[in-house]
Amino acid sequence: MVTFSEQVSSLPSDVALAVLGDPVAHSLSPAMQNAGLAARALPLSYGRLRVTEAELPKAFQELRSRFHGWNLTLPLKLTALPLVDELDPEAQWLGAINTVVRRDQKLIGFNTDGLGLHRALEAAFGAAWRSAPVTLIGAGGGAGSAAARYLARTGIPKLTLVNRTRAKLQTLHATLEKTMHVRIGSWEELPRAIADSRLVINASSLGLDGTPLDWDPAWLDPGHLVLDLVYRREPTPVVTWARRAGASAVDGLDMLLFQGAEAFRLWFGQPVPEAEMRHALYAAAFRHNSSER
Ligand code: NAP
Repeated sequence: MVTFSEQVSSLPSDVALAVLGDPVAHSLSPAMQNAGLAARALPLSYGRLRVTEAELPKAFQELRSRFHGWNLTLPLKLTALPLVDELDPEAQWLGAINTVVRRDQKLIGFNTDGLGLHRALEAAFGAAWRSAPVTLIGAGGGAGSAAARYLARTGIPKLTLVNRTRAKLQTLHATLEKTMHVRIGSWEELPRAIADSRLVINASSLGLDGTPLDWDPAWLDPGHLVLDLVYRREPTPVVTWARRAGASAVDGLDMLLFQGAEAFRLWFGQPVPEAEMRHALYAAAFRHNSSER
């Protein structure tokens, strides 16, 4: 495997932003962010760097003097927490960093996934989701626990946390129950939890590999709202399941766009060329799907 230093030294000299993760080869962020940079005529480009958790401290050291900022994806969002000089309060509450900004030689850690989730819900369902009882599937994973923490502050009436491995929900549940009506549903109780909610969010990686779900559409009714954090250009298995029931359902591409647009704003201020970023993101997702067929 190519080392981190070798990857950095082989980057073109204009690369001053990147997504760091492992794996990272299929990330759609470079296409989206490079379209934003081009639209603003900024003389920089955005790359991708494969970084393991063990390499992350060294990566922060090397990029600190050279890069303007970077994004973090799986599995680095938690590992990065102690590596920044300052932590934005939102990232602290969500317990994860997905965006690093270098300002005055300091590295500041942000989390734009919460805002991305919020804007994706507004774009898909308008204000209807805000008064909906929510079932959050995969709440024990990285994206799921950050989504739960974000949702806890939005005023939703009730949140049911579900995770295949139930034990992973204990700490999250204990934290959130101080501020809101939150309960844990076991994996076996998933149909019941869904029936008792109006908004269903899938933050698990179920469906990521395209394997169809064996979930019964009868768990849903047409009034349900479904957001799948998994993103593909074609309907994801969760979206397909929900649409069979006549429910409104969207995948996670818009959330990816909105978290990326907010990262761009943190790096460069306004205006964020969101239309160009959206166009490039959807085109890259389409190309990615076509290449997998
Ligand atoms: P993660 O930390 O590895 O968590 C994975 C989650 O999926 C865990 O809750 C895990 O349950 C669950 N899971 C995995 N396989 C499962 C199965 N066969 N049946 C039931 N549950 C299963 O990953 P993550 O970072 O949270 O990411 C999760 C998904 O969200 C990924 O698809 C990612 O692409 C997506 N995501 C999207 C955005 C966006 O902008 N749209 C942002 C962040 C993440 P256990 O705890 O039982 O293992």
